[in-house]
Amino acid sequence: MTVELANRLKRLPPYLFAQLDEAKAQQMEKGIDVIDLGVGDPDLPTPKPIIERMKKAVENPTHHRYPSYEGMFSFREAVARWYQRRFGVELDPDSEVITLIGSKEGIGHMPLAFVNPGEIVLVPDPGYPVYVGATILAHGEPYRVPLTAGRGFLPDLTTISGGILAQAKLLFLNYPNNPTAAVASLTFFEEAVDFAREHGIILCHDAAYSEMYYGDPPHSLMEVKGAREVAIEFHSLSKTFNMTGWRIGMAVGNKEMVQGLKKVKTNIDSGAFQAIQEAGIEALAGEYGVEEMRQVYRERRDVLVKGLKGAGYDVEPPQATFYLWFPVPAGYDSMAFAKKALEEVGVVITPGLGFGIYGEGYVRAALTVSKERLEEAGERLGRLVT
Ligand SMILES: *Cc1c(COP(=O)(O)O)cnc(C)c1O
Repeated sequence: MTVELANRLKRLPPYLFAQLDEAKAQQMEKGIDVIDLGVGDPDLPTPKPIIERMKKAVENPTHHRYPSYEGMFSFREAVARWYQRRFGVELDPDSEVITLIGSKEGIGHMPLAFVNPGEIVLVPDPGYPVYVGATILAHGEPYRVPLTAGRGFLPDLTTISGGILAQAKLLFLNYPNNPTAAVASLTFFEEAVDFAREHGIILCHDAAYSEMYYGDPPHSLMEVKGAREVAIEFHSLSKTFNMTGWRIGMAVGNKEMVQGLKKVKTNIDSGAFQAIQEAGIEALAGEYGVEEMRQVYRERRDVLVKGLKGAGYDVEPPQATFYLWFPVPAGYDSMAFAKKALEEVGVVITPGLGFGIYGEGYVRAALTVSKERLEEAGERLGRLVT
């Protein structure tokens, strides 16, 4: 029997990093000391009080049973309190908050809940690949909205044609942004909410990096008046509390959108382990380690920016996220330059093309190794251009 993948899986974009993964494995096999700035996964441990709360919670037999689909009320309350404290946004924990198994789960399910076959989903390009993948799995059509340096990596929503808008069901935005590290102003969020209302488009904002900032604290889309009529915001404990492996996040905002996500969840998963939700309550209430985390990444950012800038790279310190996004030197495309960095100086950086066609010409470096290693990485990458 030949096992055939479903067409929807075949339609997913090709995995562009296979060649690079292979080159990395080869370098490591040769015993080369590779510095990996490729992965957007915090290297710091989850703060102790969160782990301690988890240890206690795991002993509680009520948590050993199926959780509720929408998550524990106490976790949703903790989310609402945190939004109130951090953004001044009031949320009804009962109807406007849902627990997720990581924000990726909710983002992935959003098109399944709201997009009919053939309907268009507006996705930022470059962007987190899940927006395109989830759209295709729901038989939707991704339409790439370019993020360019000239506009501070904010999409120009006014240039999307009427024909596209008429078929568009959903728009994804993500600020602070992966991979460009751009931050959005409240004014931009207001424009986005107006745009969504005017065209009847569901606005999905991914705020996973809102706590990883170095200047003014970034805004929540929910701060915009009327946002909850047209929008849902995804958030996560992954980046804020170094909890990527725990799988805990949330979506907040429009009630019908929250209900739609819940309906998908009831049919596909059975909610988040309650002990993890309890640890999440502890994290949101205590905000452990967040200021220290910002300090660590700020120092790392400054070390790598200094090294790269000194060597002649066109790079500025980002105001948020743990990514540097910068143009490759003249004469290379992003894949060729990433390959050269790996093969000639043993540094893994991510080619911009992997985030979409408008990412071409750039690379992303993640600040997920120590200051010392970043200093070394800066020196090594410097050798490629001098
Ligand atoms: C890391 C990341 C997330 C968080 O994913 P989780 O599933 O919550 O771990 C969401 N969006 C973007 C753009 C990310 O980079």
